Amino acid sequence: MPATSNNSYLWCDHCRRSFNHEDAADGVCPICKEPVKPVGKFNAILRGLMANELNPSPLTSKHRQLVKLIWTRNNAGEEYYRLLAPEMSYARFETAMTNLLCRGADEGWVEFSMPPSPKDDEGLYALKVIDENRFLNELQTLSGPEAALTEGD
Ligand SMILES: [Zn+2]
Repeated sequence: MPATSNNSYLWCDHCRRSFNHEDAADGVCPICKEPVKPVGKFNAILRGLMANELNPSPLTSKHRQLVKLIWTRNNAGEEYYRLLAPEMSYARFETAMTNLLCRGADEGWVEFSMPPSPKDDEGLYALKVIDENRFLNELQTLSGPEAALTEGD
């Protein structure tokens, strides 16, 4: 039985999603241009469901965004960037620092606090440094191996 729009979708392995035949008429994914292959409709739905589980959930991304917004608040992001002068773009630094602080929160040397429900008072959203020495050491590693080597006694 030939794959038609009646009995199949076109699946892109790269984007982990399916398309209608009309949306991928030339046999390539309209998003990433990788070749797509026909899969049965039921199969496409199952694959889509499984792919969703593998993608980072919107909750996780929002949580990361919130962490980033908290530590960069009131120009703190630019201040850290200026003080540490890491050899990377600000955007990269912001991501690296957000990752670092997420790890710090897991390991317990920093803590994020926020109100039980959204509030206008931004002061309620705070980054608290629990172990200052550890925090400073971690900041050194972030600004590059050179920075760590030139550290005083
Ligand atoms: Zn694709």
